[in-house]
Amino acid sequence: MPTAGILSPYKMTIAFAENAVMNGVEVSLNTIVQSMEKKDGKILSVSTNRGIIRPKVVINAAGVYSDKIAAMVDDQFFTIHPRKGEIVLVDKKKGHLLYSIVSNPTLTTSKSTSKGGGVIKTSEGNILMGPNSYEQPFKEDFTTKKENIDEILKKHMNIISGLSHADIITYFAGVRAATYEEDFIVEKSEYVKNLVHAAGIQSPGLASAPAIAEDIEKMTIEILSKVKDVKRKDNWNPIRKGIPELSSMKDKERSALIKKRPDYGEIICRCEEVSKGEIIDAINAPIPAKSIDAIKRRTRAGMGRCQSGFCMPLVAKILEEESGLDMKTITKKGNASKILEGKTRKGQNEGGGNYEAL
Ligand SMILES: Cc1cc2nc3c(=O)[nH]c(=O)nc-3n(C[C@H](O)[C@H](O)[C@H](O)COP(=O)(O)OP(=O)(O)OC[C@H]3O[C@@H](n4cnc5c(N)ncnc54)[C@H](O)[C@@H]3O)c2cc1C
Repeated sequence: MPTAGILSPYKMTIAFAENAVMNGVEVSLNTIVQSMEKKDGKILSVSTNRGIIRPKVVINAAGVYSDKIAAMVDDQFFTIHPRKGEIVLVDKKKGHLLYSIVSNPTLTTSKSTSKGGGVIKTSEGNILMGPNSYEQPFKEDFTTKKENIDEILKKHMNIISGLSHADIITYFAGVRAATYEEDFIVEKSEYVKNLVHAAGIQSPGLASAPAIAEDIEKMTIEILSKVKDVKRKDNWNPIRKGIPELSSMKDKERSALIKKRPDYGEIICRCEEVSKGEIIDAINAPIPAKSIDAIKRRTRAGMGRCQSGFCMPLVAKILEEESGLDMKTITKKGNASKILEGKTRKGQNEGGGNYEAL
């Protein structure tokens, strides 16, 4: 029986979300819960930046902000203290050096809140080193620090021979939503009748997600059954196909696809071998990808050696053409992450497409 497994966290999340949409769920992206109105121990309405929702049940799964959501209805019996983890990612070309998960535990990490990190091969073939683990005051501080990265490299780099600093393509950080009790909070609120908490889901929250979902489903059905008839959906479709992945296809399969869909023959991201067809399909997927990072997480365009240096303008152009978005409004990841300011003087004069980056 294997005791560990590797998956792509963003691909898994997108697959579940798209399957939900295929089965009738409505997803409201870029929607921030700002306050909630409670009456007689029940949430009546949820105010967001995009309007008011009147829900029968509310599930608090807001990660590092789950304590703030609970506080909106005076149900804050826990506090989240953000715990950062930094990660180093190595070029796929060195993926052949590793076939399993390797770690270098020390006596101190075995007693700490983290497993101490390690070296793994991602499902896409990169080598990943880390994460580390330390407390920080801010919930959304995703910066990486040189001294911490150096520490990760010192600890893990020499586990595999043949790796050098030049093989590193990027560093990044995530923030775990730890409670002071160091435990998940998966329960119905004691004081608010239609509120369920899935809070404090720190590591290994991803591995635990299927089991947490089963518990949350039961609690949600209990609450909903009091106000409506809850039935299992007869025609629920468990199959979500996803976008064809050109880079993992054999030549014959590729040729057949390109014959049918010529856009699959035009490579846009050379590092990850992502075609125009994949990007078009991501833009038109059940949850349409409308930013550079949304396309990146669905197709891997921009995740390779050059980290989107070459393909980003091409991806933005396809996004403009396919979705009708004005080039100037295209963002890296929504909100204020605008990329382009306006046409350069040359572009304006020629009526062409030369844009000035912010
Ligand atoms: C460095 C690192 C390494 C990890 N390694 C592993 C591992 O190896 N194995 C494993 O199983 N787990 C791992 N985890 C943990 C795993 O990633 C988390 O447990 C999981 O992502 C938590 O999911 P979640 O849905 O609870 O929270 P999140 O994924 O944080 O989602 C919360 C969502 O709520 C939204 N939100 C917050 N406030 C509001 C608001 N006011 N209005 C609307 N939306 C809001 C946020 O935008 C976000 O989309 C790791 C985490 C980190 C940081």
